[in-house]
Order: sequence, then structure tokens, then C-alpha cells
Amino acid sequence: MSPTPTQPEALPTDRVLGVPIHLHEDYAGWLGDRVRSGRGAHVVTLNAEMSMLAGREVQLGETIDRAELVIPDGAGVVLYLKLKGKNIRRAPGIETSEALLASLVGTGKAAFFFGGAPGMPDDAAANLTRQYPGLDIVGTQHGYVKPEEMPELLDRLKTLQPAVILVGLGVPRQEYWIAEHRRVCPNAVWIGVGGSFDVWAGVKTRAPKWMGDNHLEWLYRLYCEPWRWRRMLALPKFAIVSLLELAGLRKERT
Ligand code: UDP
Repeated sequence: MSPTPTQPEALPTDRVLGVPIHLHEDYAGWLGDRVRSGRGAHVVTLNAEMSMLAGREVQLGETIDRAELVIPDGAGVVLYLKLKGKNIRRAPGIETSEALLASLVGTGKAAFFFGGAPGMPDDAAANLTRQYPGLDIVGTQHGYVKPEEMPELLDRLKTLQPAVILVGLGVPRQEYWIAEHRRVCPNAVWIGVGGSFDVWAGVKTRAPKWMGDNHLEWLYRLYCEPWRWRRMLALPKFAIVSLLELAGLRKERT
């Protein structure tokens, strides 16, 4: 029997510096429906840094254009949309992914974790399974796979056909990898989760809630990982470029 769609195929879309973003109140719920009806999706968790990178790297821009779901992961993206008169709640990728995993419990659907240092996705899986008893994580693979080992990983995925595949290789490596390989599990929801396995494994911590609530998660990240400062210059650049674009003084990505 073919699955009955319970939701529109395409969500309302806006643009952040020319990069698409989908507007919805409950992304995890939308993805849960997608899992239940066996329709796959590539999920991109968009932040300011990634929006800037998409303007420079055509391949990344095109990959995001093709994703079925792009969610507002970063405060910059939310503030940008606010300036355009759109009020949208921030949906951190790590929280959306965790809510989707929690919703798999008792459904007979399983997840697979790919990415992070050796041992990291296993520790993340163990902690999440403790937190959500009944959660089925059918396999894990660290993110430092040699090219000659890749066919074996793809064969595993083909056999296992997990409903949700989380890929934490960093941006844009994870987005390219998903776009290239998602056809091995066409019914799966694939999400690029960055360093989320490190957090679930208990090795890294997220910013305290008050910092997140005050758009200061970037400051916490800079404090914990000061070597990221050069990469994080994308944030003030994003603010300047956004203001110029919204004032009509700069053209958005086309
Ligand atoms: N990583 C990986 N394979 C690689 C490069 C990176 O698995 O070849 C992992 C790394 O161990 C870390 C994650 O990718 O867990 C990147 O985390 P980061 O917070 O830098 O992600 P981003 O900020 O790019 O989303």
C-alpha cells in the first residue's frame, strides 16, 4: 500500500542571503510524519556561517537548494528573518534530531549514527539509548573512514535501511556526503548534525540556556574553542552583509 501523505510535500519557504529556509512550527513533528510515511528527506541545519559559505561555494548552495528541509539552527538566521518581518522560533539541529530520535521509540524504526572521532558515535548512542529506553540505534560508524572503506559502510546502510541517519562530519563535508549517498536509503531522513555526537557523548557541552536565549551561543563556542575565531569571523560578516542586503544595497545570492 502506498503511504498516505499527511502533510503538504513542500513547506513555505523564505530566503536568508538567497539561501532557502523552510518555515514551520514543529520540524521534528514534520520529520516524524515523513518517517512514518517512508518518504526520505535531506535536512540542513542552517546558521549564519553556512549561509555565508553557500554564497561562496556554489556546490553548497545547490545542495541546500535541493534539501527537502532547511531549518533555522542559528540565532543569526532567526534575527535576519525577524528583520524581514518573519517571526520564527530557532530550531537547533541537535534538539530537532533528538526529538526525532525520541519519536522513533516504539515505532519499530531505527537510526544510524555516522561521524565523530572513533568511539564518539558509540558513546552518543549508548547515552541516548539510556535516556530513551527502546530507542533502536542499529549501527554506528566514526567519521574518519578511508575511501577504500566507504563501500563497506554504504553496503551496511543499504542492508540496514535505517529510518533516520545522522551524519556528523562538519559543514560542508556532511552535506556533500549526504547528497552523494542518500540514494542508498531513499526512504530515510538524513540530517547533517555537525558536532552533535560529541555533545551526546558527553565530551562537549552546549551553551547554558540563558546564553542560547540571548543569542550568545556563539560566544560560548568561542570561549570553549578559541581556535575557531577565524571561522567565526563569518558572524560579523553575516551581520554586515545582511543589513546591506535588507537595505537594498546588495543583491542576494541568485
Ligand atoms: N568529523 C568527522 N570526520 C571528519 C571531520 C570531522 O567525523 O573527517 C567530525 C568531528 O569529529 C566533529 C564533527 O565532525 O565531531 C564536526 O564538528 P563541528 O562542531 O566542527 O561541526 P560544524 O561546526 O562544522 O557543524
